[in-house]
Amino acid sequence: MIKKFFGRVFSGRMFKAVQPKIVAFKTHGVARERISSCALKTTQTLQQHHFAAFIVGGAVRDLLLGREPKDFDIATNATPEDVRRLFRRSRIIGRRFRLVHVMCGADTIEVSTFRGGDGAEDVAARVSDEHGRILRDNVFGNQEQDATRRDFSINALFYDPATQEIWDYHGGVADLKKRRLRMIGDPVQRFREDPVRMLRAVRFAASYGLEIEAGTHKPIRALADLLQNVPPSRLFDEMLKLLLSGYASECVTKLRKEGLHHGLLPLLDVILEQPLGKRFVMLALKNTDDRVRAGKPVSPAFLFASLLWHEVLAAWKIIEAKGVRGIPALYQAMEQVSEVQAEKLAIPRRFGTDMKEIWALQPRLLQRSGRRPYRLLEHPRFRAAYDFLLLRCESGEVEPAVGEWWTRFQDADETVRENLLTSDVETKPRRKRRRRKPGGGAKAENE
Ligand code: ATP
Ligand code: MG
Repeated sequence: MIKKFFGRVFSGRMFKAVQPKIVAFKTHGVARERISSCALKTTQTLQQHHFAAFIVGGAVRDLLLGREPKDFDIATNATPEDVRRLFRRSRIIGRRFRLVHVMCGADTIEVSTFRGGDGAEDVAARVSDEHGRILRDNVFGNQEQDATRRDFSINALFYDPATQEIWDYHGGVADLKKRRLRMIGDPVQRFREDPVRMLRAVRFAASYGLEIEAGTHKPIRALADLLQNVPPSRLFDEMLKLLLSGYASECVTKLRKEGLHHGLLPLLDVILEQPLGKRFVMLALKNTDDRVRAGKPVSPAFLFASLLWHEVLAAWKIIEAKGVRGIPALYQAMEQVSEVQAEKLAIPRRFGTDMKEIWALQPRLLQRSGRRPYRLLEHPRFRAAYDFLLLRCESGEVEPAVGEWWTRFQDADETVRENLLTSDVETKPRRKRRRRKPGGGAKAENE
């Protein structure tokens, strides 16, 4: 009896078809020329083989907003095996969601098969944890079900390059126009299925200047703790997207406002409450945002080094107070902070190494005598460490004169360099002598 009842409820949901609104080119104005040639070739090949193929997700949203898409994703009714067979240079990837990477030249396009809906059978075939988080979802379905499985209405738009039409199942075009971010379906259930959607909501709202619709916004604070169950590698990926979005300052401010920052960068809270720490983090974010928006490369390691610097400083102070000497204490502090972060936010090893190098070079930048500055200039991380020092100067942590000294020293000719070294030694003779004692100075720096 109960089974029958549920069967009816679920099948009711399953067959309640949502008709897409087809938006013509003359209304939305997104021409196929704005699609990358790799993505165009991929949809064309699929369509020539009688499969449905659309550009979907972030690219359509960005094109409608007049922004340059970062990448192009394709949704199709072809299975991953079908896609794999059609493209010589392709491979099936993913466990949670199986999809295919199609390569043309240096370009890679992600092709995913339409996901199944939330009918009883589809739900039963998905693997979830005890909080409702979906661990695996390789149930395939039709285009309408695929649209419904997406997170926000503005991300559920399908663009057909052949006809230049947009298929809009959930009112995403209107929401974009109204600058509104709205979850598809029941927000509580959808956030439970995947708590990362809360971070995505903040990122989209902050970086596109959208308002999170009331129903979508309401449960966020109460569900924030669910982020603790998300694997650190996924949190890291999402944090990286957020920090490199070009709107990191807005995103971090909004994360705090929504109470979502606790699980991400432990103690970010504490840092942002210390005037010097907050100033430093905000300067670092602004710096990154300016670079991203100017199309310049940014280093994630530099960014994480900045976000965590005041934690390192705090730990360093505590360790020194316990009697450990300066540089070894710094190294202990660096390890401690990196370990805590590694647990919460899987900062990949390559970033971790660069991050520590940037930190470790900071005391060496304060030593401006003898051959040391010359050696430092040769260091592969000098530029990053110097940029980092400039941030410290700008935030008020280090005398601006130190940054200015390095700015002059690195571009100066030999005579000017000698002068710079002499004048520095003359102004601080006692300190320099003390640092040259055995066990201190350059040797200890390299421990
Ligand atoms: P970005 O510009 O950051 O790439 P995006 O929306 O394209 O934003 P992707 O992670 O590339 O984000 O995902 C592509 C599409 O897949 C999204 O637009 C959305 O339709 C769907 N999607 C991604 N993540 C989720 C999720 N957690 N839950 C539901 N749908 C998702
Ligand atoms: Mg994308």
